[in-house]
Amino acid sequence: MALPLLEDLPNPSGKKVLLRADFNVPITNGHIDDDLRITAAMPTIKWLEDHGAQVTVCSHLGRPKGQPDQKYSMEPVRQRLAALAPEVEFMENLRFDPGEEANDPDFVDRLVEGFDLYVNDAFGASHRAHASIVGPPARLPSAAGRLLAKEVDVLNGLVHRPMHPFVAILGGAKVSSKMGVIEALIDKVDQLAIGGAMCFTFMLAQGYSVGDSLVEPDWVEACKGFLDGPDKHKLLIPNDVVAIGPDEEVQVFIGDIPDGWKGLDIGPSTTLAFIAPLEHAGTILWNGPMGMFEDARFQEGTVMVAEAVADSHGFTVVGGGDSAAAVAKFGLDLRIDHVSTGGGASLELLEKGDLPGLAALREASNAPA
Ligand code: ADP
Ligand code: MG
Repeated sequence: MALPLLEDLPNPSGKKVLLRADFNVPITNGHIDDDLRITAAMPTIKWLEDHGAQVTVCSHLGRPKGQPDQKYSMEPVRQRLAALAPEVEFMENLRFDPGEEANDPDFVDRLVEGFDLYVNDAFGASHRAHASIVGPPARLPSAAGRLLAKEVDVLNGLVHRPMHPFVAILGGAKVSSKMGVIEALIDKVDQLAIGGAMCFTFMLAQGYSVGDSLVEPDWVEACKGFLDGPDKHKLLIPNDVVAIGPDEEVQVFIGDIPDGWKGLDIGPSTTLAFIAPLEHAGTILWNGPMGMFEDARFQEGTVMVAEAVADSHGFTVVGGGDSAAAVAKFGLDLRIDHVSTGGGASLELLEKGDLPGLAALREASNAPA
């Protein structure tokens, strides 16, 4: 079965549509910091309204523990959405009910009650087998919204038909969360650069000392596997890093990092080595900041990579919540071809080629053969 799209729904005119969106947006003191996920759902809402449907949106927000918690109220999101789509109705946080995360069938029944159709546009939540993601397609004619369909197209396209040279740049906090993606991409890419905190586990595997930098010792062997593997020539590992010392002094080290020092950004020579292949790349995938860019002292590597990605004439994709926040912070988001709205979901799709939410949609009664 193929993924059912909006066009595969029975005529939505006059019908009540339950739209699962991912409006899990960053909120500080009741203010939405970044509304990418809300604006990204507008094409689907507009399509449904243009076709005469009455739309009710549902989403989760944060991690309330299965009970109502004012701290995780969707009110700021409801207000933002009301300004963009005044006709749309909006439910309270799905995770205020324990049935959502437990995928409780009774909760699914209550959720779909009174609705005729279901649309999933919540790409960022589709790697979770939660009630609102996998439940409704077994009960109502269902479809993938425009955003979900586009995310799937773009990310599957990277794996199956990239324009070469295909360069991936991975960074971020944990090597463990990105090992699966390295594994999935290493034979597809022409070069794979590794920055962020995850580079230190690779440097450890190369035999360097990394001082007090973040490492995941359990993953050293896996890193060695890639460093000695058939695609080892594709890997770019930092040879210099910016580190902070015991008295808050900041210094660049080539190779070994002394005890008491913690690496927080890639160094200038590494940055040049990482951005060089981007100039002529046909496809670029960037996931994970190169350093602790939230601190201006350690943002240089991330800024330079972000600018090189934005300048590229190739097809550019940025995935990961913090990387997306970084390109937005530097004002480069409009110069990237696709900024994914999903962090975990984009990694899992690249890794496994499928998500529980997509599998559920393909099983819907109206899915095309
Ligand atoms: P994304 O959300 O883009 O997938 P991650 O969540 O994996 O990225 O990682 C982002 C975080 O990694 C950022 O908050 C950044 O500060 C942190 N980080 C990057 N490099 C380092 C480093 N060298 N040491 C500590 N933290 C780092
Ligand atoms: Mg993150």
